[in-house]
Amino acid sequence: MSGGDTVQFEEGEAFARRMDAVDPLRSFRDEFLFPQRADGEPVVYLVGNSLGLQPRRAREYVLEAMDDWERLGVEGHFRARRPWLPYHENLTEQMARVVGALPLEVVVMNTLSVNLHLMMVSFYRPTPERPKLIMEAGAFPSDQYAVASQVRCHGLDPQKDVLRVQPRPGEETLRTEDILGMIERHGHETALVLLGNVNYLTGQAFDMAAITRAAHAKGCKVGFDLAHGAGNLRLSLHDDGPDFAVWCSYKYLNGGPGTLGGVFVHERHARSPGIPRFEGWWGHDKATRFKMGPDFVPLPGAEGWQLSNPPILQLAAMRASLELFDRATMPALRHKGDLLTGYLEFLLDRLPPGTVQIITPRDVKARGNQLSLRFNREPRSLVTRLTEAGVLCDFREPNIIRASPAPLYCSFLDVYRFARILESHARD
Ligand SMILES: *Cc1c(COP(=O)(O)O)cnc(C)c1O
Repeated sequence: MSGGDTVQFEEGEAFARRMDAVDPLRSFRDEFLFPQRADGEPVVYLVGNSLGLQPRRAREYVLEAMDDWERLGVEGHFRARRPWLPYHENLTEQMARVVGALPLEVVVMNTLSVNLHLMMVSFYRPTPERPKLIMEAGAFPSDQYAVASQVRCHGLDPQKDVLRVQPRPGEETLRTEDILGMIERHGHETALVLLGNVNYLTGQAFDMAAITRAAHAKGCKVGFDLAHGAGNLRLSLHDDGPDFAVWCSYKYLNGGPGTLGGVFVHERHARSPGIPRFEGWWGHDKATRFKMGPDFVPLPGAEGWQLSNPPILQLAAMRASLELFDRATMPALRHKGDLLTGYLEFLLDRLPPGTVQIITPRDVKARGNQLSLRFNREPRSLVTRLTEAGVLCDFREPNIIRASPAPLYCSFLDVYRFARILESHARD
């Protein structure tokens, strides 16, 4: 299973067991706590795209911070085993490796929708010549609300000034040429191009480098929402060059419910104190922060966008997960992820005709771990059957199931079991 091998998938259970036995990442499964079925068996967990599982060590790290708070009170800011004052810095380098960025370009702070607003304050600066924002039709609702409200804050009209790239009639996903075509036609009047990568509903991954290049050539700023991309895709944010990116850490990154998000601001903006931004004391120069002066001096890089001192308990839990990403590495995770998802696709293709339609692109470069599946035959009873069998996946009205075998903790046997349940549903 080293890079570049092509694996010939097989239908029987023995194949899944063989793949698990030779999986170089198999030991990572033991680093996670699985919800259990009534019989004590772990569930088949295919919703890591929604909320990642708890790393075993998360509790230890959270309790360490709780103990330091108990022992030290306010002095924990300086004297905790991991002092709280610079605590978020423990995560910066690891997070930067996850998204392919320089440490200077990354900070862990706030939550995703908040960060999207903060980034738009800085990088969505419409002018009379450039009033437009280009995004995908079918973006995640919070992103649509954030965009519409920002557009209105600038006195513009979301109906008119937001341009949405649509799938062609009869198609489910976007063609890169159509995204680039929109930028070609409207880039000259566009302030910001904003895409979710990967799209939360279809599982489609976009060509970030090509989109960024095209948008910059037209003088637009470019941002990505990587809620479903961080910890999933092999990202190279620095080289691809978007102006900013935002993501959450509770999906593939297993940071815990509601935990802090990540922000990327490209190095080219690292030392531009003139960029308009919403300011807070945590973004202020560390050397003079506690002089409590009236004038804001931003830290260089992404840290300069921080507002508040962050919640330490959540950061502690995140440390446990990011350590695992560092050990596993994104290239190895993506390699196993492609095998798991490819194997799922292989098994789905062998179900009785008409059982399921795969919406996600078949090109492995245009997707990550997630396959979005449309079931026309009694989707609700299928969901019930899956739940009863101890398989957790995500259902979107009216008939889409999103299944995402996260390579850190999912096995080939998990995928096999999921497919067998789909098969029994199709045959009943
Ligand atoms: C999950 C997700 C969100 C959630 O936003 P929060 O602010 O973390 O609640 C927003 N946008 C996208 C694209 C998502 O996938």
